[in-house]
Amino acid sequence: MKRDVLIGLGVGILAFLLVMGYNIFPIVLLGLGGYFLWTFGISRQVIKNGQGVAITSTMVNFEDIGGQTIAKKELQEALDFLRYSERMKALGIRPLKGILLSGPTGTGKTLLAKAAAKYTDSSFLAVSGSEFVEMYAGVGAERVRSLFRRAREIVKKEKKSSAIIFIDEMDILGAKRGSNVSHHEYDQTLNQLLIEMDGLKTDQGPHILVMAATNRPEALDPAILRPGRFDRQVKVDLPDKEGRIAILKIHTKNKPLAHDVDLEAIAHETFGFSGAHLESVTNEAAIFALRDQATEITGRHLHEAVEKVMLGEKLDRKPTAEELRRIAIHESGHAMLAETVRPNSVSQVSIRSRGNALGYVRHYPKDDLYLYTQAMLEEQIMVALAGALAEEEVLGTRSTGAAGDYEQALDLVEKMLSAGMSSLGVTDVSLLSAEQRQPVTKDILAQLEKRTMFIVQQNKNILLRISDLLQEEESLNGDTLRRYLQNAA
Ligand code: ATP
Repeated sequence: MKRDVLIGLGVGILAFLLVMGYNIFPIVLLGLGGYFLWTFGISRQVIKNGQGVAITSTMVNFEDIGGQTIAKKELQEALDFLRYSERMKALGIRPLKGILLSGPTGTGKTLLAKAAAKYTDSSFLAVSGSEFVEMYAGVGAERVRSLFRRAREIVKKEKKSSAIIFIDEMDILGAKRGSNVSHHEYDQTLNQLLIEMDGLKTDQGPHILVMAATNRPEALDPAILRPGRFDRQVKVDLPDKEGRIAILKIHTKNKPLAHDVDLEAIAHETFGFSGAHLESVTNEAAIFALRDQATEITGRHLHEAVEKVMLGEKLDRKPTAEELRRIAIHESGHAMLAETVRPNSVSQVSIRSRGNALGYVRHYPKDDLYLYTQAMLEEQIMVALAGALAEEEVLGTRSTGAAGDYEQALDLVEKMLSAGMSSLGVTDVSLLSAEQRQPVTKDILAQLEKRTMFIVQQNKNILLRISDLLQEEESLNGDTLRRYLQNAA
């Protein structure tokens, strides 16, 4: 802040001098030179002091990481090269220099690297790829050299025989060469990393293993993945249901749970959540329990926490009575249609504002599915369209509340196009022009709108009754909704 004020003041004075007719060129030159030397000095100081490098005492065990069974197994196998290096040497096996962990954010890549250090009794240094990026030539490369130097120093100081250097956000440091704007500096930094890795030897000095993590392995320079560098790649995916149960168990170990808590049910409804999301769910649930002055975390606290992590905090936004009726009709449309095309699928329907949504329907995922049939995609599109169509049928008009639903419907139509489920047949969607794509999309949506409207009209009375109930109760869970639908039928 102070720096911004000083820069502003300097520019102001220079402008004034310029207007007064002074030659400000030498002052600008001097200023720029001074600024460069100053920041370069700081950068070098940072490298010398090893700032930006986190040296963590690694208390994470593989047992503290839920799910990821295959990733852990592959990793442990690779790490045995380090643990039993004498045996490897006897067989003439080339030492392992790099392991690349790739997968979505929050899935436990950092945890795996820490556990790897514990498993191999290595010193652990963590840096982020972004810390190497500098606008000044040579600084990034010097940071890489300094990092490896520092690893050797720490191993000596901690009296260990190996170190693990963990580089997070590897795609920033290791992007394909020539792909960055200030590419020369990026390329020099990456070259330096490759040189350091090529120079790693195990017969002299400590063994250094580089572990890197990325969410975008496709963005990496192929040179990085060449054998002899990061030649082990471990995929760290989003956890499946069993994985989610294991992660929830780990993060509730230190929390008092009430008898009604069913972690399997929580795992069932959290399809697509990462380990970091699940950790956040357990923490938020504990905070809800604290707010209620409860001594135990109940199932309700956990369900509430799932909604918060999925959709955002409840808001005190108060729509008008007319808006509230429209929201209730809209959400009832989604819920009624979902229960019609896929019975027992609604987990919650609410007209309480949360995050960006004025109301919402949450669905139980159909177990962990990795494949969708055309019928499933069409059903999802119909559920998305049903909110606006319910508004149209009951109130005569649609509203802007459906914008998000249409976005979702269009994404699903896109999936259908790329899976060859449209009149275009199997095609490379990226080669289609807007003129080719638009009529097909419109056609699919028009047909599905027709089917959806038919169901909405057939069930208009039920829809109106759900909407009245919602306006009274504000929120209904799936079981209450289904009981009500059964009685109404
Ligand atoms: P990013 O790509 O954003 O750096 P990451 O994959 O490195 O994320 P971590 O930093 O390892 O993710 O995980 C963040 C937090 O999420 C952990 O501290 C932990 O609390 C929780 N977590 C993530 N995955 C798991 C897991 N498999 N088991 C237990 N906890 C997990």
